[in-house]
Amino acid sequence: MESVGLGGIGMILLVLLVGGGVFAVVRAVVRSVTKVGRLASTVTDIIKKADYEAETTPKSLSSAEPLLLDRIKRDFPEYNPELIRQRVAKDAKTFYESAQAGKCLYVDGISDQLRERLESFLPPDVAGHIQVHKVALAAYDDVSEDRVLTFQAAAAFKDASGVTRQRRLILKYLAAWSTDTETGVRKANCPNCGAPIPAVGAKVCRYCGTALKVWAGIGWLLTDLRED
Ligand SMILES: [Zn+2]
Repeated sequence: MESVGLGGIGMILLVLLVGGGVFAVVRAVVRSVTKVGRLASTVTDIIKKADYEAETTPKSLSSAEPLLLDRIKRDFPEYNPELIRQRVAKDAKTFYESAQAGKCLYVDGISDQLRERLESFLPPDVAGHIQVHKVALAAYDDVSEDRVLTFQAAAAFKDASGVTRQRRLILKYLAAWSTDTETGVRKANCPNCGAPIPAVGAKVCRYCGTALKVWAGIGWLLTDLRED
């Protein structure tokens, strides 16, 4: 009896030991599964956060205005950076309002070519809540006789399912005198001899040599606009 009793105790101890070992293993497995689970949900959270931020954070813009302003002012002494940025913001907004309306809503200041293009290519998913967060001057082209300003605009709108979409727009403006609906861009005339001045960047009249300061009356014609 005694030996059986001892054997019984041995069995109980063994069961306890094995059981304890199994319990420890099970506990370790449960812990690591929980850890993996936690890690997985952390990863999911990070992805969700990234998605959320992608749609709540406006697109970043690269402004080169401090570098370009001197060059622009040399050609256009009356250039007002704040006023033109307001104009660009308005044009960016009109782009998405046009998309929402399904037709080009620009009244003036836009080339006929671009107007035509916009009539057929407007983003199809704009449902409302149009916002223009920021506008930045990205480039100034004065290499040829044309003068072109390139702006970026960070904008947002809600699509048909109510999701906010963040977009970046590129807008290009050509320095031009007033536009003529029949001939497109109209040229100015030399104040001395009346000869037509072919380009905004011309410094002297090519007929009489008069130095030209014809920036007065120049407007910026929106010639290109697209989503980046
Ligand atoms: Zn002249």
